[in-house]
Amino acid sequence: MTVSELINKTDKTAFSFEVLPPLKGTGTATLFSTIDALKEFCPEYINITTHRSEYVYVEQPDGSYLRHFVRRRPGTVAVASAIMQKYDIKVVPHVVVSGMTKEEIEYMLLDLQFLGIQDLLVLRGDKAKDEARFMPVKDGYNYATELIEQVNLFNSGKFVDGTPIKNPGTPFSYGVAAYPEKHEESPNLEFDLQVLKQKQDMGADYAVTQIFYDNEKFFQFVERAREAGITIPIIPGIKPMAKLNQFSVLPKVFHLDLPETLSKEMEKCKDDAEVKQLGIEWGVSQCRELMQHHVPSIHFYSLGVTDSIREIARQIY
Ligand code: FAD
Repeated sequence: MTVSELINKTDKTAFSFEVLPPLKGTGTATLFSTIDALKEFCPEYINITTHRSEYVYVEQPDGSYLRHFVRRRPGTVAVASAIMQKYDIKVVPHVVVSGMTKEEIEYMLLDLQFLGIQDLLVLRGDKAKDEARFMPVKDGYNYATELIEQVNLFNSGKFVDGTPIKNPGTPFSYGVAAYPEKHEESPNLEFDLQVLKQKQDMGADYAVTQIFYDNEKFFQFVERAREAGITIPIIPGIKPMAKLNQFSVLPKVFHLDLPETLSKEMEKCKDDAEVKQLGIEWGVSQCRELMQHHVPSIHFYSLGVTDSIREIARQIY
């Protein structure tokens, strides 16, 4: 059963979370401890992010710098396989355009197909840290919609060069990203909705949102999406805050507003422990309200907040 079939078959809000492949050379211990901590809540599926290579500058003995291309978090495909083997839980690897050529994307699709993986989250991916704006690699793409075209082509039994796939496997089912508070590069929300509608029309089965802390923004977004003819399920993305500096970091990094009630409460916190407690309480009430509105699933962003998600899940599931 695909994620889309799974969330469409019941009114119950599914529990899902996102993990990052471990940093290069650090092994799987932290990854598995995250899953171990959350598996009692019966996740219907686990998303695995994909991260592009970055340039790092290494100082040389003569004081000059050498530029290296480094992938700090390789292994989305391997992590997907490891999770399937160890836990027998459905996995949803993210496939991104960022830093990838069409051919590299094709190899990833082939690897995922060999593993029997049917679900993907199809995204453009973040820009490189040293770039002011997103730059496609040579033989790569600018937008997620171009990647969707390639996945559709693959699903129809053709490689990216148009040659036939001798033995095409089960087609991929895929979700895409959505932004209740607008993607940072979009001129306006209307434009973002047109892009989302285009993705739906091309075959996206559902959308997962960027983090938000104001449910009203999510409800309004869903309403406007429905008015724009977007009918696919829209899954809210939640990450409990856990650090004092997130008061300013979250709006900057994720281009979101913190609701006034939350920011006032955060201002009163004296240390990270108090913010973490507030994050749990806010997360519980946010999720309870979302569940009352019958959201199909909640997508928890787990990086650095496994304990908080565990506590929220304990209270709401
Ligand atoms: P796109 O749909 O390509 O949109 C990017 C921008 O271009 C938007 O402003 C859009 O309005 C505009 N646009 C789209 N199509 C066109 C067009 N045809 N013409 C003109 N403008 C257009 N990043 C990672 O690197 N790895 C991950 O694993 C990852 N996982 C994520 C999971 C979720 C649930 C979400 C919400 C985001 C995730 N991201 C991840 C971040 C995401 O890749 C970035 O937000 C990225 O900047 C945009 O991705 P997108 O798929 O929405 O891109």
